[in-house]
Amino acid sequence: MTERPLVWIPRPVHDDALARLRPYAEVCPGYGAEGVTFDEVHDRVAGVLLRTERVDGAMMRRAPRLRIVARHGVGLDTVDVDTARELGITVTTTPTANSRSVAEHTVALLLAVRRGIGIAVRDEGDTRAAIHGRELGGAVLGLVGFGRIAREVATIAGRGFGMRVLAHDPMVPASVMTDAGVEPADLPTLLSLAENLSLHVPLVEATRDLIGLPELLALPEGAVVVNTSRGGILDESALLTAVRRGHLAGAGLDVTAVEPLPSDHPLRAEPSVVITPHTGAQTAQALRRMATEAADHIIAHLT
Ligand code: NAD
Repeated sequence: MTERPLVWIPRPVHDDALARLRPYAEVCPGYGAEGVTFDEVHDRVAGVLLRTERVDGAMMRRAPRLRIVARHGVGLDTVDVDTARELGITVTTTPTANSRSVAEHTVALLLAVRRGIGIAVRDEGDTRAAIHGRELGGAVLGLVGFGRIAREVATIAGRGFGMRVLAHDPMVPASVMTDAGVEPADLPTLLSLAENLSLHVPLVEATRDLIGLPELLALPEGAVVVNTSRGGILDESALLTAVRRGHLAGAGLDVTAVEPLPSDHPLRAEPSVVITPHTGAQTAQALRRMATEAADHIIAHLT
């Protein structure tokens, strides 16, 4: 009988992924009572199913049988892709697995801010009088970036809530937007109309501080900003200024420049700012999809 390839899994993943892998591979956890370190299996490991741990070039060079590093989620900052390329090791991600979860979280934050949920749960003083909610129905939503997550947001907001959805994304053809019932717009036009603004771009040099004070002040009075993409795209001190001046009605943040956001950060003291600790993708469905898709990448590659 031929030896089955060994797959090392440094941190727990959904059981369905392990069940999928077992007929094809020897599954070797790096956690729990039976857990083994990479060094204990480096000469046999053929695949790694990776959450947020690091696989650096030195590890790859010590693993002559390694053929695939499958990321659970997106982002390749924990994997030395250059060394992987040099050694012919495939690196995969699961880019669509959590889009729906993040999109739903985006809408949850928008609703939380628009309906004063943050103020209500604090319940300090005359909460009813302090809350001046606004419906989403009929309001304008501006999406900056129109990739996987933004398209899901557009579907929920447009078809579900009856919002008028505009999007700005220089890399996406206008026809893709109009086919989705979304109006393409340049950034200044979008900002001038967006009563609700939601950010869905990657953090790269060109998008760092993409939304600063001039952009926030270009939004209609009483606008709400939601960021579930990456901290650093939205200038947080500008956000604080715009909220304190009363130009913005509030903000919903799942991501911040520093995570976790310190407990004494001034944004935390703003009742109209709702902050979640990067939990946009934390759903049972997304965790299962990320794990099983990564397992499928390993199976496809090793068989
Ligand atoms: P995606 O790659 O599918 O879409 C990003 C879009 O941004 C692309 O269409 C691209 O053309 C566009 N874009 C790039 N630069 C732009 C610019 N300057 N102006 C306008 N558009 C621009 O990505 P996605 O899967 O939709 O993810 C979007 C963001 O969400 C990423 O930053 C990702 O890291 C983040 N994210 C957050 C969570 C969370 O837990 N909160 C989970 C997953 C992803």
